[in-house]
Amino acid sequence: MKNDLEQVLVVMAHPDDAECTCAGTLVKWIRAGRRVHYIVCTSGDKGSKDPDMTPYQLAAIREEEQRAAAEILGVETITFLRRQDGELEASKAFRAEIAMLIRRYKADIVITHDAWRPYQLHPDHRAVGISTCDAIVAARDHLFLPGQTAIGLEAIEPSELYLWGAAEPDHFEDISETIELKLEALSQHKSQLRRPNWRERIRQWAADTGQPHGMAYAEAFKRISFRR
Ligand SMILES: [Zn+2]
Repeated sequence: MKNDLEQVLVVMAHPDDAECTCAGTLVKWIRAGRRVHYIVCTSGDKGSKDPDMTPYQLAAIREEEQRAAAEILGVETITFLRRQDGELEASKAFRAEIAMLIRRYKADIVITHDAWRPYQLHPDHRAVGISTCDAIVAARDHLFLPGQTAIGLEAIEPSELYLWGAAEPDHFEDISETIELKLEALSQHKSQLRRPNWRERIRQWAADTGQPHGMAYAEAFKRISFRR
């Protein structure tokens, strides 16, 4: 592992997206000395079938669950953008906001949704995936977003991008030693755990991902390196 890649920015659409897809990898990286920062774009304020639930109550519950999960993993900071669940758009403003955070945290590694997976139906997952990739371009040159540069948010070029949920993954992280923590972090998302056998399903998914690569459990990514 390259120890010079210290700062990791995780950009997710909803609470629990990162725990489902990359938490085992994040724990490995944190143990190796990397610092992980969460950006949670919406607070999942529409994901309930309870007729008495309000979006405000639900957002508060989901944020509390997300904080608890992040603490178990050792995530250093968490930022809630509190945009509307289900209504994210890949706008210039959203791109600029993510670029600001890439600059603010001097991200060496960015990790987010794969927006190009065929039949990626969730609009928020598409919008976050595309906006984060576009934000990397906007963050890396000082003539982009000059207002940010003027207040000291210097341009920065991340070295690596990882996409979870990739149609064509080309990078597999062995999470055999961290899957228990991943499951413990996921268990904090109590308002989202509707299936009683969720632990078995996550374990089976990780086993199926790892098996062809000689790993007991793995998480899969499309990895893009910007190193020249
Ligand atoms: Zn999601």
